[in-house]
Amino acid sequence: MSQQDGKCFKPSFYIVFTVYHCCRITFKTNNTINKILTPKPPKLTSDKQYQQSGVYCVTFPDCRMKYIGQTGRPFHKRFQEHFHDFKYNIRKSKFATHLLDHNHSIGPINEVMNILHTSNKGRSLDTIERLHIFRQTRLQTQINDRNTGKPNAIFDVICSLDPSLSVSSTAIHPT
Ligand SMILES: [Zn+2]
Repeated sequence: MSQQDGKCFKPSFYIVFTVYHCCRITFKTNNTINKILTPKPPKLTSDKQYQQSGVYCVTFPDCRMKYIGQTGRPFHKRFQEHFHDFKYNIRKSKFATHLLDHNHSIGPINEVMNILHTSNKGRSLDTIERLHIFRQTRLQTQINDRNTGKPNAIFDVICSLDPSLSVSSTAIHPT
């Protein structure tokens, strides 16, 4: 390596070193600092899928547990509301409450939110939401509510046809 190469390499090494250590500090800090440094949800005016409404699933990056929800407004608006509640310690829904109780972080919408079904608000949306909560309850990966997955014979049949649900899960939220 020439001296010039060495000079070129050194600053970038220090940048990487500094970024690495900043990231570590960010990751290890407690709730308050962690929340301040949590990335804001990106503006998604160009991402058409999040401008629709329907049923969504958010997977929490720290524990891989899932929150199922529905909205009659754009998905990105609903996500911003969840994020707002988390940021300002508002425990209106299980979403923010779970993040706050377990000192979790949350990622940007395109990394954590999966759209399960798109539709306008209505009774069919309620049913589809309940089915997905039922499904995640079987997998023991939902944080909506332990009592939300009530017995349902039709959902049982639907889930019995889903091979990914045939083996009972032993997933337990890390304490
Ligand atoms: Zn969790």
